[in-house]
Amino acid sequence: MLVYKFGGTSLGTADRMKSVADLILSDPRQKIVVLSAVSGTTDNLIKLSNSDIQNGDILLQEMVKQYKDYVAGLLSNEACITSAKEFLGETFHSLRTALHQQKPNDEKWFVAFGEFISTSLFSFLLIERGVNSAYLPALDFMRSVEGEPDLGQISILLKNVLEAFEPKDVYVTQGYICRNENNQTDNLRRGGSDYTATIIGAVLKAEEIQIWTDIDGVHNNDPRIVQGTRAIEKLSYAEAAELAYFGAKILHPLCVRPAREAGVPIRLLNTLNPTATGTLIDKENPMSQGGAKAVAAKDGITAINIRSSHMLMAHGFLRKIFEVFEIHKTSVDMITTSEVAVSLTIDDDRNLENIVNDLKDYGTISVEKDQTIICVVGSFGKDEMAAAVKVLLPLQNIPIRMISSGGSASNISILINAKYKKDALEALNKGLFAIG
Ligand code: ASP
Ligand code: MG
Repeated sequence: MLVYKFGGTSLGTADRMKSVADLILSDPRQKIVVLSAVSGTTDNLIKLSNSDIQNGDILLQEMVKQYKDYVAGLLSNEACITSAKEFLGETFHSLRTALHQQKPNDEKWFVAFGEFISTSLFSFLLIERGVNSAYLPALDFMRSVEGEPDLGQISILLKNVLEAFEPKDVYVTQGYICRNENNQTDNLRRGGSDYTATIIGAVLKAEEIQIWTDIDGVHNNDPRIVQGTRAIEKLSYAEAAELAYFGAKILHPLCVRPAREAGVPIRLLNTLNPTATGTLIDKENPMSQGGAKAVAAKDGITAINIRSSHMLMAHGFLRKIFEVFEIHKTSVDMITTSEVAVSLTIDDDRNLENIVNDLKDYGTISVEKDQTIICVVGSFGKDEMAAAVKVLLPLQNIPIRMISSGGSASNISILINAKYKKDALEALNKGLFAIG
């Protein structure tokens, strides 16, 4: 079994969805296809769930028109067109009814329709093409508890769902959406379809998980900011997880974990350039060359500095500091310490005021917003000579606020003010990859 996942841009037009069908059908192996919503639809549904009736109705009309055209471009078999129109009629009727009832807090119920629509239309296309396929409703097996996927339950439920069918060549299911412990429609947060794909791949011990987007795999630097980046052929699970977490937008930050635990490789491929090699994420290759492989940047970081003479020779100080972050449910990304001060970073500053107030009990606090973490990923084992020097040397003209190295052998992170980000990424491109 293979798992294929396609993102919203790969489904952005009817022609693109048809190319997705061509692509999966060119591989004879049995597969589960996980789809996101057509690009723009999730945003529209979020808007819809928060709209008043008047604006909501206007938005619904636009969506009805968009999907009417989409179906016209997608299907040619009369029976399939009729079924697709009926399906869309019912879908938009449900959405309109919900909009007019104006129940609060049902955004998650609304957004799920993005994936219902894309997977249903894709299933009609497969039927039209005579493919031996089945539609698997993700809400029948994707479960979450306290906002996190419950792999134990998912494994049992998915296997039951699959056993209910005669074997099929292609199964189609929704990414992103799930049911929570209260049986409500929920989701795995924005970009969560990648996570669905790796969870399914992991619980079924798939041969491979293929994540198809609109770029040739993970690049060695941010292609939106620096010129001359290139796709990396191979990454270890650890390197890919660091890159996804620290800003490489191509992957959901948590999606590497299930694949890594199950030992299933992930391949990142490009629907717009299907013959490109892409990036293979797999077990660490002990023979692989050391040094830097890629750079990513994570914006919107806040640095907090706690300066305290109590810290001198004291034990238990860090525990008290971290407890404040725990109480305010905020995770810490980077940390550096000196004898009298600690600096750390957070990316979620919703509880910043409360955090700062509580930290004042332990010292003098200063806060700097608009910081960027530059994360350099590669093999920086302790035998790797002067890894940090190689990373820092190109940055000699950039003021560095924090450096974190040695936490893991696959990452060196540097905190800078966001205004130096472009210069830093370009300097690293030149210094580490001899580009530019
Ligand atoms: N449709 C969802 C989103 O836009 C999930 C995904 O695309 O992975 O975030
Ligand atoms: Mg995505």
